[in-house]
Formats: sequence, structure tokens, C-alpha cells
Amino acid sequence: ARGGVTYNRVMLKISGEALMGDQGFGLHPPTVQRIAQEVKAVHELGVEICMVIGGGNIFRGLAGSAQGMERTTADYMGMLATVMNALAMQSALEALGVFTRVISAIPMDQVCEPYIRRRAVRHLEKKRVCIFAAGTGNPFFTTDTAAALRANEMGCEAVFKGTKVDGVYDKDPKKFTDAKRYDTVSYDEALEKNLGVMDATAIALSRDNRLPIIVFSLDEPGGFRGILAGRGTYTTVK
Ligand code: UDP
Repeated sequence: ARGGVTYNRVMLKISGEALMGDQGFGLHPPTVQRIAQEVKAVHELGVEICMVIGGGNIFRGLAGSAQGMERTTADYMGMLATVMNALAMQSALEALGVFTRVISAIPMDQVCEPYIRRRAVRHLEKKRVCIFAAGTGNPFFTTDTAAALRANEMGCEAVFKGTKVDGVYDKDPKKFTDAKRYDTVSYDEALEKNLGVMDATAIALSRDNRLPIIVFSLDEPGGFRGILAGRGTYTTVK
């Protein structure tokens, strides 16, 4: 009945760059709409969905500080960028008839809801897609860490990290033809070999709470739903 999907509650993490399409910057609405379709296809199965979207398509704290901006200020700008991306995704999902809430780690009540854990859980139970914005609300963290944090708080069964490649490789598959994709890799190996799954804080937090991370390609149409059903190629970090 559920297309072979056994998950009940999942976290989908995508980078801000996934929303910019072939542009070098910002939001590409048709790309946002395409990803919203991917989410809808899973939502239709009754799976409860959390999302965290990065902000790198608009602003990164490290890039700002490299150019002389104060790091924490630059990081807050990065967090604000994730709110813009979350609102774009909310708009695209609701255009498809999927109810959503944008929930920000930094309160901005006129724009979206503040993060209240129990309230977010209730939204999920009511099958609203919860888009967690503003990262963790703290400078010096990333949205990967926010995804691992919220996934743990919400009781998600796994974090699905949608990327441009279909898993984790021992070297860059775009540069090396003999690059090998891992089916599974341990948290420790991902950390030791710096495999670029997520940043170290996010991997360590997932490891300590036994939260699997599944890396897959968001470029395949129907990919998210297929991966949830165990089809296609992907890497599980566990
Ligand atoms: N950021 C932060 N704290 C967080 C999450 C994000 O300070 O908890 C800032 C940080 O400056 C980061 C920017 O927001 O560079 C955008 O997030 P990220 O780089 O994770 O986005 P992605 O690479 O996924 O697009």
C-alpha cells in the first residue's frame, strides 16, 4: 500500500545550492518546484517529512568572514538565507496542495513559526511537512548539523541527504573514473577519511544517536521515493 516504503518519519536535507539550478546564485523556482514534487510523491505515501535546507546559494558565513566580515554576523546572515529558501520551498509545496510549516530556530513571528519541539511533532502527526529554518540558531554550526539535530529531536528514522551524486565515493567521481561508491560506510570511517558526507559535527551527532544518514541523488526523477523504498543507488552511513 505504501509502495514498499517502511519509513514513518524522515528528515530530508538539501543544500541551498540544490535550489539554484544551473545558475551560479540564488533561487531557481522551476528547480524548487521539481524538488517539491519529489517531496509530494513521498508525502502521498503517508510518510511524515521534516526538511532542512541550507543557505549556500545565497550566503555562507565562512565566505563572508574570509572577506573581512565578523564571523558571527556573517553566520547570522547565512541563517537568514536559509529562511528565504525555506519560504520558497513552502510556497512550492503548498502550490502542490501539500500543507507545510516553516519553523525557525530564530523567532520571526511575522514570517514563520518559532521552534517549539512539541508543536513541531504535532504538525508532523497532522501530516504537515515541517521545514526547519535558520539552522540551529547558532553561529559556527551548519545546516547539516541542524538536520541531524532536528532529526533526533523529531524522532526521525533517518536523514536523507539529497545531493548531486548518488552516494559517497572514495574520491571525486566527477574527476576520477575509477572512483568507488560505498554501499555502506561507518560513521567513523566517514569521519576518518573525511569523505564529505556531512560535516564532522553532524556525523558525530548522528553516530552518538545511531541515526543513519542516506546519501542519494536528487537529480533522478522520483529518486526520493525510490530511495525510501530501497531502490536505486545510494550510500548508507551507519
Ligand atoms: N549557519 C549557522 N548556523 C547554523 C546553520 C547555518 O551559522 O546552525 C550559517 C553558516 O554561516 C552557513 C550558512 O548559515 O554557512 C548556510 O548554511 P550551510 O552552509 O549549511 O548551507 P548549505 O551548504 O547546506 O547550502
